[in-house]
Amino acid sequence: MFRVIFLGTAGSLPTKDRNTSATMVNREGELMLFDCGEGTQQQMMRAKTGMKALSSIFISHFHADHILGIPGLIQTMSFHGRTEPLKIYGPHRVHEFVRILSALGYYKLRFEIEGIDLEAGDIIKRDGYSIHVIGTEHSVPSLGYALVEDKRTGKFNREKAMELGVPPGPLFSKLHNGEVVELDGRTILPEDVVGDARPGRKIVYSGDTRPCSGILEASRDADLLIHDATLSKDQQEWAIESMHTTAEEAALLAKEAGVKQLILTHISSRYSDDVTPLLEEAKAVFGNVIVAEDMMEIEVPYPDKK
Ligand SMILES: [Zn+2]
Ligand SMILES: [Zn+2]
Repeated sequence: MFRVIFLGTAGSLPTKDRNTSATMVNREGELMLFDCGEGTQQQMMRAKTGMKALSSIFISHFHADHILGIPGLIQTMSFHGRTEPLKIYGPHRVHEFVRILSALGYYKLRFEIEGIDLEAGDIIKRDGYSIHVIGTEHSVPSLGYALVEDKRTGKFNREKAMELGVPPGPLFSKLHNGEVVELDGRTILPEDVVGDARPGRKIVYSGDTRPCSGILEASRDADLLIHDATLSKDQQEWAIESMHTTAEEAALLAKEAGVKQLILTHISSRYSDDVTPLLEEAKAVFGNVIVAEDMMEIEVPYPDKK
């Protein structure tokens, strides 16, 4: 399972239909939050994501619309008796932020929260995937993130193995796991029966940013790019001044990077009634694009299963 759940898709200000920034990834049951705007915990309840499996929060930057949900979420998890540790990652000073948070609320936390300062270029290695930290260009120190899964072992060629006289059973697993098998004086190599390693999935979350080379490079051949598209191109100057991206610019970047799918988020309240301008200008450049809505969920398939 690799599901992306859009819990908050508003740009800067919440609207009646859009909460402030929060994007959740459910990868094989492990939950990760990318930003955690005010009210994210209620959005999690509405989306029925649960909280216990939340392992990490990745903060893109310290604007209020990306972090204000964290104190409340921590308090609720503590109230529910959480014991699992939580890691909070973000730009410089996240460590201090977590320390102050833990002290401020007089919480009696029964779980450990670790705040980890990150820099562009850092790679967090996890079991089966890694998080690549990307430098972005916003009005305050900011980061984007790429979740990159490890390569998977190649497909096992059952017929070929049988042809070579390997009996189905434990020897199949040995070969699939890369072990050499001796059989009646013959040597069977894993590469005789196992195909090339298959790519895992890759998604990129830009956070708030101008279009930038860091996100472009990290997004090469990504299965999904979730990009700031606060404004439409008729607000180009304001996009530059406020250090956000227009829908057209996000589409141009997605096209250049060769991503498979683009989802536009951080939508300004000026489009609260109608996102058509954003969608149309993006579609004119890059076909496979949608505008995120709160509570929207999408499954990201393996690249070889599309
Ligand atoms: Zn924002
Ligand atoms: Zn911001």
